[in-house]
Amino acid sequence: VANDPEPMLSVEAAEERILAAAGAPLPDEEVALDAALGRVLAEPVLGAFDLPPWDNSSMDGYAVHAADVASATETAPVRLRVVGEVRAGGTAEVDVPPGCAVRIATGAPLPRSADAVVPVESTIASVDAAADANQAAPPGPRIAGFDPASPVPVACFVVAAVASGAYVRRRGEDVRAGTAVLEPGRRIAPAQIAMAAAAGAGTVRVHCRPVAGVLSTGDELRSAGQPLGESGIPDANRPGLLAMCRAAGADAIDLGIAPDSLDAVMAALKPAIERVDLLIVSGGVSVGPYDVVRSAFAAVGSVDLWRVAVQPGKPFAFGRTEPRSGDGRRVLLFGLPGNPVSALVTFELFVKPALRRISGVATATLDTDRAVTDDRLSKGPGRRGYLRVVVARDGSGRPIRDDRGRLRVRQSGGQGSNMLGAMAAAEALAVVPETVDAIDAGGEVEIRWLRT
Ligand code: AMP
Ligand code: MG
Repeated sequence: VANDPEPMLSVEAAEERILAAAGAPLPDEEVALDAALGRVLAEPVLGAFDLPPWDNSSMDGYAVHAADVASATETAPVRLRVVGEVRAGGTAEVDVPPGCAVRIATGAPLPRSADAVVPVESTIASVDAAADANQAAPPGPRIAGFDPASPVPVACFVVAAVASGAYVRRRGEDVRAGTAVLEPGRRIAPAQIAMAAAAGAGTVRVHCRPVAGVLSTGDELRSAGQPLGESGIPDANRPGLLAMCRAAGADAIDLGIAPDSLDAVMAALKPAIERVDLLIVSGGVSVGPYDVVRSAFAAVGSVDLWRVAVQPGKPFAFGRTEPRSGDGRRVLLFGLPGNPVSALVTFELFVKPALRRISGVATATLDTDRAVTDDRLSKGPGRRGYLRVVVARDGSGRPIRDDRGRLRVRQSGGQGSNMLGAMAAAEALAVVPETVDAIDAGGEVEIRWLRT
């Protein structure tokens, strides 16, 4: 039929098209561990050496020959002469003759001639050689800990047998030299930094950070904190979207506010193209007389105005520039709705996956959950709704789950696409399918956590 609107694109189809256009991950660079947080590995991190690098003690205690203490019990302790000490950072070249022990600290290398460690808790120190020279019952109460400042005793009574290898952390048991300890495509969090450092890496090879330019359009917009005058409104999208980019691991460049004129929008976008990997423009994306963003995008590349079956999220435009002169890359062009909730939700749904892809993240992980809603969740027909919700928690702050493991959610405020209050209060988006107009109170709903 002639006046049938073009069919709407599903959220998945839109994402798929964006990812197909996003292209290869950005080139890589070497960065110090100190600068690696949030970056994405471009190459595996290999263990530079075995880890632990040598056999070492997992306890404070005594390095012994297990055979010497095989008969040790509480009632028949075995006395060992203590011939020395190894501390963390000390040498393994300490001789432990048969019938003798060496005091050892956690993490200290195991003397080569010993084969096990007796934890200090299974020993009684003897400081007076004369008093126990006859190997009579041990003199004092068992000491519960290890005081590195205390003098090395002349002897110790072992009250429990240990097997050969007991309390010894073996060389290479964590990591074998040359094997990958971290795989490429993984975003680096604190544990990965610690792992890389432990593996002997001072630097890691990561993908370059994506750079995003963020522009707001609208004659009515004023920079945050500026007087509004007669009919101004604060520009919420630019600070919000800049922060979204940064929270997603990108560098973000503030391109300011452009009035609703093609020349002004072009003037803001053109010089940015050589400096950014993607351009994010909010407002002015529809087809009204003052909606110039699509024309601006068309002037620097190709663009489609999409009808995505999503609410909030209309209108939305996506395209790419011509290959740029510097490196031949095409800059991704995102035209997001002006309404602030729509801008943030479309960023979440469509810009983030593109950022992840060019950042080099290998696999997407979606942070979803099942919940029961306390409120009726309604939205327009035929579109997938992403409603702003909070999660019920108990007195200690833990999310409450029912006997089927489902969370409980309610709306975090008014659901208008202009109503930032509910977005700012939200912990999650409740996903209401295209096929229903509403989910009644008590119904089950999938949620998507809004944790960065
Ligand atoms: P538009 O997409 O330009 O038609 O704008 C839709 C609605 O969003 C209008 O009410 C605009 O005033 C509002 N709007 C557009 N851009 C912003 C912005 N950067 N911050 C806050 N509201 C905006
Ligand atoms: Mg506008």
